[in-house]
Amino acid sequence: MLFANLNNLVIVPPRAFANTANMPPLIYSPQTKMFLTATTAEIKALQKIQKQTAGQDDQPAERYWLTYYKSLKNSRPELQKFILHCFSFVPAKIKNNSDPYNMSISFFGDSKCNLKCLYCFNRNISPAKEKPFSLHFAADVLESIYKQAHQTIAMIDFNYSGEPLLFFDKYKKLWALNQKIAKKYKKTPANMGIVTNGLLLNDKIIDWLRKHNCWLGLSLDGGAEYTNAGRGEKTFERAIANYQKIFARPEWTNERSVHATISGLNPDVSRVFTELWDTGFRQIYIKPLRSETDQPYALNKKNLPKVLKGYRKLFALLAEDIAQGRLERLLSICNRFDYAGKFLGRIMINRSVIRRCGGGYGMCSVRNNGDAYPCDTYAGRKRNKLGNIYKRVNWDKNLAPPVDELESCRFCKYRYLCGGPCPVWRDINNGDISVECAFNKALITECFRLAALIEQYPQEKKLIHEHFRYHL
Ligand code: SF4
Ligand code: SF4
Repeated sequence: MLFANLNNLVIVPPRAFANTANMPPLIYSPQTKMFLTATTAEIKALQKIQKQTAGQDDQPAERYWLTYYKSLKNSRPELQKFILHCFSFVPAKIKNNSDPYNMSISFFGDSKCNLKCLYCFNRNISPAKEKPFSLHFAADVLESIYKQAHQTIAMIDFNYSGEPLLFFDKYKKLWALNQKIAKKYKKTPANMGIVTNGLLLNDKIIDWLRKHNCWLGLSLDGGAEYTNAGRGEKTFERAIANYQKIFARPEWTNERSVHATISGLNPDVSRVFTELWDTGFRQIYIKPLRSETDQPYALNKKNLPKVLKGYRKLFALLAEDIAQGRLERLLSICNRFDYAGKFLGRIMINRSVIRRCGGGYGMCSVRNNGDAYPCDTYAGRKRNKLGNIYKRVNWDKNLAPPVDELESCRFCKYRYLCGGPCPVWRDINNGDISVECAFNKALITECFRLAALIEQYPQEKKLIHEHFRYHL
Protein backbone atom coordinates (compact mmCIF):
# COMPACT_ATOMS: atom_id res chain seq x y z
CA MET A 1 0.00 0.00 0.00
CA LEU A 2 2.88 2.35 -0.59
CA PHE A 3 1.27 4.67 -3.04
CA ALA A 4 -1.60 5.37 -0.68
CA ASN A 5 0.75 7.50 1.35
CA LEU A 6 1.25 9.78 -1.58
CA ASN A 7 -2.26 9.71 -2.91
CA ASN A 8 -3.42 10.80 0.51
CA LEU A 9 -1.31 13.93 0.48
CA VAL A 10 -3.21 16.93 1.64
CA ILE A 11 -2.66 20.15 -0.20
CA VAL A 12 -3.02 23.11 2.13
CA PRO A 13 -3.56 26.21 0.02
CA PRO A 14 -2.38 29.65 1.17
CA ARG A 15 -4.70 30.92 3.81
CA ALA A 16 -6.86 33.96 3.53
CA PHE A 17 -5.89 35.16 7.00
CA ALA A 18 -4.67 38.71 6.87
CA ASN A 19 -1.25 37.86 8.25
CA THR A 20 -0.65 34.87 5.99
CA ALA A 21 -1.39 36.37 2.59
CA ASN A 22 2.10 35.52 1.36
CA MET A 23 2.29 32.08 2.82
CA PRO A 24 3.20 29.39 0.26
CA PRO A 25 1.01 26.33 -0.12
CA LEU A 26 1.89 23.33 2.04
CA ILE A 27 1.73 19.62 1.40
CA TYR A 28 1.08 17.28 4.26
CA SER A 29 1.27 13.53 4.51
CA PRO A 30 -1.21 12.27 7.11
CA GLN A 31 0.68 9.02 7.52
CA THR A 32 4.23 10.29 7.88
CA LYS A 33 3.01 13.52 9.50
CA MET A 34 5.42 15.56 7.43
CA PHE A 35 4.78 19.08 6.18
CA LEU A 36 6.60 20.69 3.29
CA THR A 37 6.13 24.04 1.61
CA ALA A 38 5.80 23.66 -2.14
CA THR A 39 5.69 25.82 -5.21
CA THR A 40 2.52 26.27 -7.20
CA ALA A 41 4.06 24.25 -10.04
CA GLU A 42 4.85 21.37 -7.68
CA ILE A 43 1.34 21.42 -6.28
CA LYS A 44 -0.04 21.21 -9.82
CA ALA A 45 2.24 18.27 -10.61
CA LEU A 46 1.22 16.43 -7.42
CA GLN A 47 -2.44 17.04 -8.06
CA LYS A 48 -2.05 15.74 -11.60
CA ILE A 49 -0.55 12.47 -10.37
CA GLN A 50 -3.24 12.12 -7.73
CA LYS A 51 -5.84 12.50 -10.46
CA GLN A 52 -4.11 10.05 -12.79
CA THR A 53 -3.72 7.41 -10.12
CA ALA A 54 -7.04 7.77 -8.32
CA GLY A 55 -8.65 4.37 -7.93
CA GLN A 56 -5.71 2.50 -9.45
CA ASP A 57 -3.94 -0.51 -8.01
CA ASP A 58 -0.80 0.10 -6.01
CA GLN A 59 1.76 -0.83 -8.60
CA PRO A 60 0.88 1.40 -11.55
CA ALA A 61 0.27 4.28 -9.15
CA GLU A 62 3.62 3.73 -7.53
CA ARG A 63 5.28 3.95 -10.92
CA TYR A 64 3.78 7.41 -11.53
CA TRP A 65 5.15 8.67 -8.23
CA LEU A 66 8.60 7.20 -8.82
CA THR A 67 8.75 8.75 -12.28
CA TYR A 68 8.00 12.12 -10.74
CA TYR A 69 10.56 11.49 -8.00
CA LYS A 70 13.25 10.78 -10.60
CA SER A 71 12.27 13.77 -12.73
CA LEU A 72 13.15 16.05 -9.83
CA LYS A 73 16.78 14.89 -10.09
CA ASN A 74 18.74 17.01 -7.63
CA SER A 75 16.78 20.17 -8.21
CA ARG A 76 14.50 19.66 -5.23
CA PRO A 77 16.08 17.39 -2.59
CA GLU A 78 13.49 18.30 0.11
CA LEU A 79 10.60 17.19 -2.04
CA GLN A 80 12.48 14.03 -3.02
CA LYS A 81 13.10 13.28 0.64
CA PHE A 82 9.43 13.91 1.37
CA ILE A 83 8.36 11.46 -1.36
CA LEU A 84 10.94 8.89 -0.31
CA HIS A 85 9.73 9.07 3.25
CA CYS A 86 6.23 8.27 2.09
CA PHE A 87 7.52 5.21 0.26
CA SER A 88 9.57 3.93 3.13
CA PHE A 89 6.91 4.78 5.65
CA VAL A 90 6.58 2.50 8.64
CA PRO A 91 3.35 3.24 10.48
CA ALA A 92 3.99 5.10 13.71
CA LYS A 93 2.53 3.73 16.88
CA ILE A 94 -1.19 4.03 16.39
CA LYS A 95 -3.24 4.77 19.43
CA ASN A 96 -5.94 2.22 19.97
CA ASN A 97 -8.57 4.52 21.35
CA SER A 98 -10.51 1.74 22.97
CA ASP A 99 -8.31 0.52 25.74
CA PRO A 100 -10.26 -2.21 27.51
CA TYR A 101 -8.26 -1.76 30.69
CA ASN A 102 -9.03 1.91 31.01
CA MET A 103 -12.79 1.91 31.40
CA SER A 104 -15.08 4.81 31.90
CA ILE A 105 -18.50 4.25 33.42
CA SER A 106 -21.44 6.48 32.94
CA PHE A 107 -24.26 5.85 35.40
CA PHE A 108 -27.78 6.61 34.36
CA GLY A 109 -28.56 8.18 37.72
CA ASP A 110 -32.05 9.29 38.62
CA SER A 111 -32.74 10.43 35.07
CA LYS A 112 -34.65 13.48 36.32
CA CYS A 113 -34.20 16.96 35.00
CA ASN A 114 -35.34 20.47 35.85
CA LEU A 115 -35.22 21.51 32.18
CA LYS A 116 -36.86 20.29 29.01
CA CYS A 117 -34.24 20.87 26.34
CA LEU A 118 -35.59 20.48 22.82
CA TYR A 119 -32.80 18.12 21.80
CA CYS A 120 -32.40 16.19 25.06
CA PHE A 121 -30.54 12.91 24.48
CA ASN A 122 -32.96 11.13 26.72
CA ARG A 123 -36.16 12.64 25.42
CA ASN A 124 -37.53 9.16 24.62
CA ILE A 125 -37.03 7.91 28.16
CA SER A 126 -39.80 8.02 30.68
CA PRO A 127 -38.21 8.62 34.11
CA ALA A 128 -41.33 7.12 35.74
CA LYS A 129 -40.58 3.78 34.11
CA GLU A 130 -36.92 3.78 35.14
CA LYS A 131 -35.64 2.10 38.27
CA PRO A 132 -34.23 4.72 40.63
CA PHE A 133 -30.43 4.80 40.94
CA SER A 134 -29.33 2.82 43.97
CA LEU A 135 -25.98 2.78 45.71
CA HIS A 136 -26.19 -1.01 46.12
CA PHE A 137 -26.38 -1.27 42.39
CA ALA A 138 -23.44 1.13 41.92
CA ALA A 139 -21.42 -0.89 44.45
CA ASP A 140 -22.10 -4.07 42.44
CA VAL A 141 -20.85 -2.42 39.27
CA LEU A 142 -17.73 -0.94 40.86
CA GLU A 143 -16.90 -4.18 42.71
CA SER A 144 -17.25 -6.23 39.55
CA ILE A 145 -14.71 -4.03 37.76
CA TYR A 146 -12.20 -3.13 40.48
CA LYS A 147 -11.90 -6.72 41.63
CA GLN A 148 -10.46 -7.82 38.28
CA ALA A 149 -6.69 -7.73 38.70
CA HIS A 150 -5.93 -6.04 35.36
CA GLN A 151 -8.88 -3.65 35.39
CA THR A 152 -9.20 -0.09 36.57
CA ILE A 153 -11.71 2.71 35.98
CA ALA A 154 -10.54 5.99 34.53
CA MET A 155 -13.70 8.00 34.96
CA ILE A 156 -17.18 7.85 36.47
CA ASP A 157 -19.89 10.31 35.57
CA PHE A 158 -23.61 10.86 35.15
CA ASN A 159 -23.33 12.64 31.84
CA TYR A 160 -26.68 11.86 30.29
CA SER A 161 -28.70 11.12 33.35
CA GLY A 162 -30.63 14.34 33.57
CA GLU A 163 -29.48 16.97 36.07
CA PRO A 164 -27.01 15.38 38.54
CA LEU A 165 -27.49 18.09 41.16
CA LEU A 166 -31.04 16.79 41.64
CA PHE A 167 -29.50 13.77 43.36
CA PHE A 168 -26.31 15.27 44.72
CA ASP A 169 -26.57 13.39 48.03
CA LYS A 170 -26.36 10.14 46.12
CA TYR A 171 -23.45 11.55 44.14
CA LYS A 172 -21.55 12.26 47.35
CA LYS A 173 -22.19 8.73 48.59
CA LEU A 174 -21.09 7.30 45.27
CA TRP A 175 -17.86 9.27 45.59
CA ALA A 176 -17.19 7.67 48.99
CA LEU A 177 -18.08 4.24 47.61
CA ASN A 178 -15.67 4.68 44.74
CA GLN A 179 -12.86 5.53 47.16
CA LYS A 180 -13.67 2.62 49.45
CA ILE A 181 -13.93 -0.09 46.78
CA ALA A 182 -10.84 1.12 44.88
CA LYS A 183 -8.88 1.05 48.14
CA LYS A 184 -10.11 -2.46 48.92
CA TYR A 185 -8.62 -3.71 45.64
CA LYS A 186 -5.55 -1.45 45.84
CA LYS A 187 -6.57 0.52 42.76
CA THR A 188 -6.45 4.23 42.02
CA PRO A 189 -10.03 5.55 42.40
CA ALA A 190 -11.68 6.70 39.19
CA ASN A 191 -11.88 10.42 38.55
CA MET A 192 -15.33 11.79 39.20
CA GLY A 193 -17.06 14.97 38.21
CA ILE A 194 -20.28 16.63 37.23
CA VAL A 195 -21.62 18.40 34.18
CA THR A 196 -24.56 20.48 35.30
CA ASN A 197 -27.01 22.95 33.81
CA GLY A 198 -26.02 25.18 36.75
CA LEU A 199 -29.50 25.99 38.00
CA LEU A 200 -28.96 24.36 41.40
CA LEU A 201 -25.33 25.25 41.88
CA ASN A 202 -24.51 26.86 45.23
CA ASP A 203 -21.48 27.55 47.42
CA LYS A 204 -21.94 24.40 49.47
CA ILE A 205 -21.86 22.20 46.39
CA ILE A 206 -18.88 24.06 44.95
CA ASP A 207 -16.95 23.70 48.22
CA TRP A 208 -17.69 20.00 48.40
CA LEU A 209 -16.62 19.34 44.79
CA ARG A 210 -13.42 21.31 45.29
CA LYS A 211 -12.57 19.56 48.53
CA HIS A 212 -13.07 16.15 46.94
CA ASN A 213 -11.15 16.94 43.79
CA CYS A 214 -14.10 16.52 41.42
CA TRP A 215 -14.31 18.36 38.16
CA LEU A 216 -17.24 20.63 37.40
CA GLY A 217 -18.47 21.69 33.99
CA LEU A 218 -21.40 23.81 32.98
CA SER A 219 -23.58 22.94 30.02
CA LEU A 220 -24.57 25.95 27.89
CA ASP A 221 -24.93 26.46 24.17
CA GLY A 222 -23.50 29.95 23.81
CA GLY A 223 -24.80 33.24 25.18
CA ALA A 224 -28.36 33.98 26.26
CA GLU A 225 -30.04 33.80 22.86
CA TYR A 226 -28.48 30.52 21.79
CA THR A 227 -28.77 28.78 25.15
CA ASN A 228 -32.33 29.84 25.79
CA ALA A 229 -33.40 28.77 22.27
CA GLY A 230 -33.04 25.11 23.14
CA ARG A 231 -33.33 25.17 26.93
CA GLY A 232 -36.02 27.65 27.75
CA GLU A 233 -36.26 31.30 28.68
CA LYS A 234 -33.76 32.77 31.15
CA THR A 235 -31.87 29.48 31.49
CA PHE A 236 -28.61 31.20 30.58
CA GLU A 237 -29.14 34.10 32.98
CA ARG A 238 -30.10 31.81 35.88
CA ALA A 239 -27.15 29.48 35.31
CA ILE A 240 -24.65 32.31 35.01
CA ALA A 241 -25.98 34.00 38.15
CA ASN A 242 -25.00 30.80 40.01
CA TYR A 243 -21.83 30.24 38.09
CA GLN A 244 -20.54 33.66 39.14
CA LYS A 245 -19.72 31.88 42.37
CA ILE A 246 -17.11 29.91 40.44
CA PHE A 247 -15.83 32.96 38.56
CA ALA A 248 -15.31 34.71 41.89
CA ARG A 249 -12.93 31.99 43.13
CA PRO A 250 -9.32 32.38 42.01
CA GLU A 251 -8.63 28.66 42.51
CA TRP A 252 -11.02 27.88 39.62
CA THR A 253 -9.50 30.41 37.19
CA ASN A 254 -8.11 27.79 34.82
CA GLU A 255 -10.88 25.27 35.30
CA ARG A 256 -13.90 27.27 34.25
CA SER A 257 -15.21 24.74 31.80
CA VAL A 258 -18.29 24.70 29.65
CA HIS A 259 -19.79 22.12 27.30
CA ALA A 260 -21.71 23.41 24.28
CA THR A 261 -23.61 21.33 21.77
CA ILE A 262 -23.80 22.74 18.26
CA SER A 263 -27.18 22.14 16.68
CA GLY A 264 -29.41 23.75 14.08
CA LEU A 265 -30.42 26.20 16.83
CA ASN A 266 -26.91 27.63 17.35
CA PRO A 267 -24.97 26.94 14.14
CA ASP A 268 -22.56 29.89 14.41
CA VAL A 269 -19.65 28.23 16.21
CA SER A 270 -17.62 31.40 16.26
CA ARG A 271 -20.39 33.21 18.07
CA VAL A 272 -20.89 30.32 20.51
CA PHE A 273 -17.19 30.35 21.32
CA THR A 274 -16.86 34.11 21.65
CA GLU A 275 -19.92 34.44 23.85
CA LEU A 276 -18.73 31.69 26.16
CA TRP A 277 -15.21 33.11 26.30
CA ASP A 278 -16.51 36.60 27.01
CA THR A 279 -18.74 35.20 29.74
CA GLY A 280 -15.59 33.99 31.49
CA PHE A 281 -15.11 30.31 30.54
CA ARG A 282 -11.56 29.15 29.95
CA GLN A 283 -12.06 25.53 28.86
CA ILE A 284 -14.57 25.38 26.05
CA TYR A 285 -15.72 22.00 24.72
CA ILE A 286 -17.85 22.26 21.59
CA LYS A 287 -19.41 19.18 20.02
CA PRO A 288 -21.97 18.57 17.29
CA LEU A 289 -25.40 17.26 18.21
CA ARG A 290 -25.99 13.65 17.19
CA SER A 291 -29.57 13.48 16.05
CA GLU A 292 -31.88 12.51 13.21
CA THR A 293 -31.19 14.94 10.38
CA ASP A 294 -34.90 15.60 9.85
CA GLN A 295 -35.39 17.09 13.32
CA PRO A 296 -35.84 20.90 13.32
CA TYR A 297 -32.80 21.35 15.62
CA ALA A 298 -30.54 18.86 13.80
CA LEU A 299 -27.35 19.46 11.91
CA ASN A 300 -28.11 18.74 8.30
CA LYS A 301 -26.89 19.43 4.79
CA LYS A 302 -28.65 22.78 4.79
CA ASN A 303 -27.10 24.26 7.93
CA LEU A 304 -23.71 22.55 7.70
CA PRO A 305 -22.20 25.36 5.55
CA LYS A 306 -23.17 27.80 8.32
CA VAL A 307 -21.45 25.68 10.94
CA LEU A 308 -18.31 25.43 8.81
CA LYS A 309 -18.36 29.14 8.12
CA GLY A 310 -18.49 29.64 11.88
CA TYR A 311 -15.46 27.39 12.35
CA ARG A 312 -13.53 29.28 9.67
CA LYS A 313 -14.34 32.54 11.43
CA LEU A 314 -13.28 31.10 14.76
CA PHE A 315 -10.01 29.75 13.36
CA ALA A 316 -9.27 33.11 11.72
CA LEU A 317 -9.69 34.72 15.13
CA LEU A 318 -7.37 32.15 16.71
CA ALA A 319 -4.86 32.65 13.89
CA GLU A 320 -4.76 36.36 14.60
CA ASP A 321 -4.18 35.59 18.28
CA ILE A 322 -1.23 33.35 17.40
CA ALA A 323 0.29 36.03 15.19
CA GLN A 324 0.13 38.36 18.19
CA GLY A 325 1.67 35.78 20.50
CA ARG A 326 -1.61 35.19 22.37
CA LEU A 327 -2.56 31.57 22.94
CA GLU A 328 -5.21 31.61 25.70
CA ARG A 329 -8.21 31.34 23.41
CA LEU A 330 -6.67 28.62 21.26
CA LEU A 331 -5.60 26.58 24.28
CA SER A 332 -9.15 26.66 25.63
CA ILE A 333 -10.17 24.23 22.85
CA CYS A 334 -6.92 22.23 22.66
CA ASN A 335 -8.08 19.05 24.36
CA ARG A 336 -9.70 15.70 23.63
CA PHE A 337 -13.22 16.81 24.57
CA ASP A 338 -13.52 19.54 21.97
CA TYR A 339 -14.46 18.17 18.55
CA ALA A 340 -12.13 20.44 16.55
CA GLY A 341 -9.47 20.49 19.26
CA LYS A 342 -9.22 16.71 19.08
CA PHE A 343 -8.49 16.82 15.33
CA LEU A 344 -6.02 19.68 15.68
CA GLY A 345 -4.19 17.83 18.44
CA ARG A 346 -3.97 14.61 16.45
CA ILE A 347 -2.49 16.55 13.53
CA MET A 348 -0.05 18.51 15.67
CA ILE A 349 1.36 15.77 17.85
CA ASN A 350 1.18 13.03 15.21
CA ARG A 351 -1.35 10.91 16.96
CA SER A 352 -3.37 8.56 14.82
CA VAL A 353 -6.41 6.55 15.83
CA ILE A 354 -7.57 3.28 14.41
CA ARG A 355 -11.22 3.49 15.41
CA ARG A 356 -13.69 6.17 16.29
CA CYS A 357 -14.15 5.54 19.97
CA GLY A 358 -14.12 3.02 22.77
CA GLY A 359 -17.93 2.78 22.89
CA GLY A 360 -18.90 -0.70 24.11
CA TYR A 361 -15.31 -1.64 24.61
CA GLY A 362 -13.39 0.62 26.97
CA MET A 363 -16.43 2.64 27.83
CA CYS A 364 -19.99 1.84 28.84
CA SER A 365 -23.12 3.33 30.21
CA VAL A 366 -25.25 1.42 32.71
CA ARG A 367 -28.91 1.91 33.39
CA ASN A 368 -30.21 1.30 36.87
CA ASN A 369 -31.51 -2.20 36.14
CA GLY A 370 -28.02 -3.28 35.08
CA ASP A 371 -28.55 -2.93 31.32
CA ALA A 372 -25.26 -1.94 29.72
CA TYR A 373 -24.92 0.25 26.63
CA PRO A 374 -21.87 1.11 24.52
CA CYS A 375 -21.80 4.75 25.60
CA ASP A 376 -24.09 7.26 27.26
CA THR A 377 -25.41 8.60 23.96
CA TYR A 378 -26.62 5.08 23.26
CA ALA A 379 -28.19 4.61 26.66
CA GLY A 380 -31.64 5.69 25.53
CA ARG A 381 -31.69 3.18 22.66
CA LYS A 382 -32.84 -0.15 24.02
CA ARG A 383 -32.04 -2.08 20.88
CA ASN A 384 -28.35 -1.28 21.27
CA LYS A 385 -28.14 -2.94 24.65
CA LEU A 386 -24.96 -4.99 25.21
CA GLY A 387 -26.55 -7.12 27.91
CA ASN A 388 -27.08 -6.89 31.62
CA ILE A 389 -24.31 -6.76 34.16
CA TYR A 390 -26.16 -9.25 36.38
CA LYS A 391 -26.43 -11.73 33.54
CA ARG A 392 -24.10 -11.37 30.65
CA VAL A 393 -22.67 -8.47 28.68
CA ASN A 394 -21.60 -9.05 25.10
CA TRP A 395 -18.86 -6.50 24.72
CA ASP A 396 -19.38 -5.46 21.16
CA LYS A 397 -15.86 -4.74 20.06
CA ASN A 398 -17.15 -4.12 16.60
CA LEU A 399 -19.47 -1.27 17.49
CA ALA A 400 -16.73 1.08 16.29
CA PRO A 401 -14.58 -1.29 14.21
CA PRO A 402 -11.13 -0.35 12.96
CA VAL A 403 -11.59 2.35 10.36
CA ASP A 404 -9.76 0.27 7.76
CA GLU A 405 -12.58 -2.28 7.99
CA LEU A 406 -15.25 0.25 7.09
CA GLU A 407 -16.26 0.23 3.46
CA SER A 408 -17.18 3.91 3.70
CA CYS A 409 -13.83 5.00 5.11
CA ARG A 410 -11.19 2.57 3.88
CA PHE A 411 -9.83 4.96 1.27
CA CYS A 412 -10.40 8.20 3.09
CA LYS A 413 -7.22 10.20 3.50
CA TYR A 414 -8.37 11.42 6.90
CA ARG A 415 -9.24 8.05 8.33
CA TYR A 416 -6.47 7.87 10.96
CA LEU A 417 -7.41 11.30 12.21
CA CYS A 418 -11.16 10.79 12.16
CA GLY A 419 -11.46 7.11 13.05
CA GLY A 420 -14.73 6.72 11.11
CA PRO A 421 -18.27 7.86 11.81
CA CYS A 422 -19.84 8.01 15.26
CA PRO A 423 -21.82 4.74 15.41
CA VAL A 424 -24.77 6.22 17.27
CA TRP A 425 -25.08 9.20 14.90
CA ARG A 426 -24.94 6.77 11.98
CA ASP A 427 -27.54 4.40 13.48
CA ILE A 428 -29.94 7.24 14.29
CA ASN A 429 -29.81 8.14 10.59
CA ASN A 430 -30.25 4.59 9.32
CA GLY A 431 -26.66 4.25 8.20
CA ASP A 432 -26.44 7.60 6.44
CA ILE A 433 -23.15 9.23 7.50
CA SER A 434 -23.10 11.93 4.83
CA VAL A 435 -23.64 14.90 7.16
CA GLU A 436 -21.12 13.83 9.76
CA CYS A 437 -18.58 12.74 7.18
CA ALA A 438 -18.78 16.05 5.28
CA PHE A 439 -18.47 17.85 8.61
CA ASN A 440 -15.43 15.80 9.70
CA LYS A 441 -13.64 16.23 6.38
CA ALA A 442 -14.18 19.97 6.23
CA LEU A 443 -13.24 20.46 9.86
CA ILE A 444 -10.07 18.37 9.55
CA THR A 445 -9.11 20.43 6.49
CA GLU A 446 -9.56 23.61 8.53
CA CYS A 447 -7.46 22.09 11.31
CA PHE A 448 -4.70 21.32 8.80
CA ARG A 449 -4.73 24.96 7.78
CA LEU A 450 -4.51 26.11 11.35
CA ALA A 451 -1.72 23.60 12.06
CA ALA A 452 0.13 24.82 8.97
CA LEU A 453 -0.18 28.38 10.21
CA ILE A 454 1.11 27.41 13.65
CA GLU A 455 4.17 25.91 11.91
CA GLN A 456 5.23 29.49 11.15
CA TYR A 457 5.54 30.29 14.87
CA PRO A 458 8.02 27.84 16.39
CA GLN A 459 7.76 29.06 19.97
CA GLU A 460 3.99 29.02 20.03
CA LYS A 461 4.02 25.65 18.28
CA LYS A 462 6.21 24.20 21.03
CA LEU A 463 3.82 25.41 23.70
CA ILE A 464 0.76 24.07 21.91
CA HIS A 465 2.52 20.72 21.43
CA GLU A 466 3.26 20.49 25.12
CA HIS A 467 -0.32 21.36 25.95
CA PHE A 468 -1.67 18.67 23.62
CA ARG A 469 0.69 16.02 24.96
CA TYR A 470 -0.99 16.46 28.29
CA HIS A 471 -4.57 17.14 27.24
CA LEU A 472 -5.21 14.89 24.23
S1 SF4 B 1 -16.32 9.28 8.45
FE1 SF4 B 1 -15.74 10.38 6.60
S2 SF4 B 1 -14.01 11.64 7.26
FE2 SF4 B 1 -14.24 10.03 8.79
S3 SF4 B 1 -12.90 8.38 8.11
FE3 SF4 B 1 -14.92 7.94 7.29
S4 SF4 B 1 -14.89 8.80 5.22
FE4 SF4 B 1 -13.19 9.74 6.38
S1 SF4 C 1 -20.73 6.01 19.69
FE1 SF4 C 1 -20.53 8.20 19.13
S2 SF4 C 1 -21.27 9.27 20.97
FE2 SF4 C 1 -20.80 7.17 21.61
S3 SF4 C 1 -18.67 7.23 22.32
FE3 SF4 C 1 -18.63 6.64 20.15
S4 SF4 C 1 -18.33 8.61 19.06
FE4 SF4 C 1 -19.02 9.10 21.14
